[in-house]
Amino acid sequence: MRSVAYDHFYAYDELTDTLRTWTEEAPNLCALESIGESYEGRDIWLVTVTNTETGAHLDKPGFLIEANIHSMEWTGCTAALHLIHRLLAGHGKDDLVTRALDTRVFYVIPRLNPDGAERGLEERRFIRSSVRPYPREDLEDGLRVEDLDGDGRVLDMRVEDPNGAWHPHPDERKLLVRREPVDSPEDGPFYRLLAEGRIENYDGVTIKVPPPLEGLDLNRNFPADWAPEHEQRGAGPYPTSEPEVRAMVQAVTERPNITGHIAYHTFSGVHLRPYAGRRARQGRAGRLGHHQLLVQHSLRPAGGRGRAALGVGALPSPGLTSARGAVARRREAGGELVPGPPRTAELRLAADERDGESSGTEGRSGSRGRGRVAGGRPARRR
Ligand SMILES: [Zn+2]
Repeated sequence: MRSVAYDHFYAYDELTDTLRTWTEEAPNLCALESIGESYEGRDIWLVTVTNTETGAHLDKPGFLIEANIHSMEWTGCTAALHLIHRLLAGHGKDDLVTRALDTRVFYVIPRLNPDGAERGLEERRFIRSSVRPYPREDLEDGLRVEDLDGDGRVLDMRVEDPNGAWHPHPDERKLLVRREPVDSPEDGPFYRLLAEGRIENYDGVTIKVPPPLEGLDLNRNFPADWAPEHEQRGAGPYPTSEPEVRAMVQAVTERPNITGHIAYHTFSGVHLRPYAGRRARQGRAGRLGHHQLLVQHSLRPAGGRGRAALGVGALPSPGLTSARGAVARRREAGGELVPGPPRTAELRLAADERDGESSGTEGRSGSRGRGRVAGGRPARRR
């Protein structure tokens, strides 16, 4: 069984080749299919892992793992590959894995956003998710973030300027600290800080920093809790307007046997549960129950801060499946799969919080039309 490399992130070709190899090595356990094409025309792979000799995948309870919707969160893809490998290599050797594949099916989408992942690996600058230009077609004049010196990194540049907001720390000149309002000119030299890059059409006076051309956030393009651009930046013109999201929605719709879902992300080191856009009621923290267990088993070894999130962000892509009554989670780190507990506990937890919402200040409600929680802006989705 081909192993997973953990010393580099896979570009698209290596990812595809690895998945194809696994289907050749274990044809009775592993099937590969494209659920659609990305904006730039790459196949979006879905791997079905189950023992076909004990029944067809649609006849078994299914668990969905989806990763790398955000371009630079390649670790989620690696974690998804790790899971596939563990399942394939463990069948017939590990009792738990054997039982899981004999009686259940795992659907794994290791890289939902292949374009953004590829562009990020190539250009080494931050790209949030889709590479489709949105909401404007052309980049405005100003700073172009680039690896100018070709060292494989995009760093910060300091430019000396008497009006700059930064100056060197008195003890450590390499370190810049914020200028204080009372600092006199003698406390300089002062600097401006800019990302490494070049300035397009510099007018000699103002260094403009245009918004990135890649203004979409695929995570916000799902139907559940969708909101337009002025409320939720990057949500796209309408739900499932982007081919990657549409492909996943279609794939889930065609698999009514899906009973659970984890989305692998890497940004925050937290474990988000539905409806994470809203704060739990006071005293509810102790009822996070199995979510806390998941955190202990998965996030802490991965270096996450190890807490179950009570009210940050939202859970847009799992919102797709949880709306149908499936257990949905989102893990903001890579890690091994921890088998989920009975779904009734989770659903009850979510229902308690939905019904008891009164004092929260973050986030929007779990469903459109329930109204905004008083006292704050809706939390941005991650
Ligand atoms: Zn993410």
